[in-house]
Amino acid sequence: MRLSRYFLPVLKENPAEAQIVSHRLMLRAGMIKQASAGIYSWLPMGFKVLRKLENIVHEEQARAGHMAMLMPTIQSADLWRESGRYDAYGAEMLRIKDRHDRDMLFTPTAEELITDIFRAHVGSYKDLPLTMYQIQWKFRDEVRPRFGVMRGREFFMKDGYNFDLTKEDALHAYNRHLVSYLRTYERMGLQAIPMRADSGPIGGDDTHEFLVLADTGESEVFYDSAVTDIRLGERDIDYNDKDQCRAVMEEFTALYARTDETHNELKFNEIPEERRRSARGIEVGQIFYFGTKYSEPLGATVQGPDGKPVPVHMGSHGIGVSRLVGAIIEASHDEKGIIWPEGVTPYHAGIVNLKQGDAEADAACESLYNALQALGLEALYDDRNERAGGKFATMDLIGLPWRITVGPRGLKNGVVELTSRRSGESEELPPEQAVEKIA
Ligand code: ATP
Ligand code: MG
Ligand code: MG
Ligand code: MG
Repeated sequence: MRLSRYFLPVLKENPAEAQIVSHRLMLRAGMIKQASAGIYSWLPMGFKVLRKLENIVHEEQARAGHMAMLMPTIQSADLWRESGRYDAYGAEMLRIKDRHDRDMLFTPTAEELITDIFRAHVGSYKDLPLTMYQIQWKFRDEVRPRFGVMRGREFFMKDGYNFDLTKEDALHAYNRHLVSYLRTYERMGLQAIPMRADSGPIGGDDTHEFLVLADTGESEVFYDSAVTDIRLGERDIDYNDKDQCRAVMEEFTALYARTDETHNELKFNEIPEERRRSARGIEVGQIFYFGTKYSEPLGATVQGPDGKPVPVHMGSHGIGVSRLVGAIIEASHDEKGIIWPEGVTPYHAGIVNLKQGDAEADAACESLYNALQALGLEALYDDRNERAGGKFATMDLIGLPWRITVGPRGLKNGVVELTSRRSGESEELPPEQAVEKIA
């Protein structure tokens, strides 16, 4: 992409309405524009990152054996009356009337919809286990939408649902989700710690939230500092192996880590004092096992091996995809701007032409651009007629992992400058070597 043709409405000043760094930087880097309170347009750069996160979620869900599907954003209230949640859900639900005066709503979560699909088509235990998910826009009329995409009213969420014959099978689904979520967050360059949580309006007993530690987080959390040393890494996971998935779940949840709703002072005080931590965190996902809470009222039963109907055991599992864009920035930035982790960066490298219009510099930039592209790496080429200082500031703000600076002086010696956004270190080297280093 050439910056001269790109739509990147960078802001020089800090927007007054933004209270936290990720919101500020997303506005300044031209990633989003507020449409109305808690509702955002995703401009090209922001949308690109959102798509990257979405792809990672899809890949990891596929790896875990879960099927992608898509449900509508607008649903009828009838199903929610059946489950008993229409009134219980309260003011967070955006209620709409259609022209025939029928009650509709904008999906805040989709347990009812998916259970309706299940009961219409699945009749036998032989069709289980079944796990399907979607990545779709949700709407919750939050009392206080704030912090940009972190607490929007409209937000992009992955929601997955498992249907199993027994509690044991459903707990395997729970563990599978836990493992796949850990992989997902690590690929995004994040550490998200599973913490015992409260189930809220979804219901159920078993639930963990995934929290990214950050001072600007809205959740209060308590944990044993040793949990921050555990990583999933490149382990080879067989998602069909119940014992292996359970072992990972146990490893990641054995140490004390809880949100304030489930915090227990007595248990917390059993941790050696130097490892006790209380901090703030951003909830980037949550998994639930809730048994037959929806399958019973909605009649989602299958014929068991003995021929008798049994309600299925269910769980639901969410990832805050749009919130993650903010969470990643909260976890990875400096005073100059964003620092994208490699796995989610909108472009792999930025090319800065110090003397646009100089035949040699222009040609060197073009050839770098093509060489990167040939390797499947996307570059953002700053080909504008701007001062070097302005170009550098833009590159620092948008936070691509690598910057290649090309100017007539370096080219005389056969070199360009390669700068790492994270370390700030620069080195001069021949263009081919710069490309090799990025790849
Ligand atoms: P919160 O406690 O922040 O209100 P929640 O517990 O109500 O979130 P869930 O029902 O668990 O949310 O939804 C799954 C995920 O969707 C959350 O873990 C979070 O990452 C994301 N999410 C929830 N509400 C919002 C929102 N208003 N804006 C952006 N992301 C959200
Ligand atoms: Mg909420
Ligand atoms: Mg919550
Ligand atoms: Mg939650």
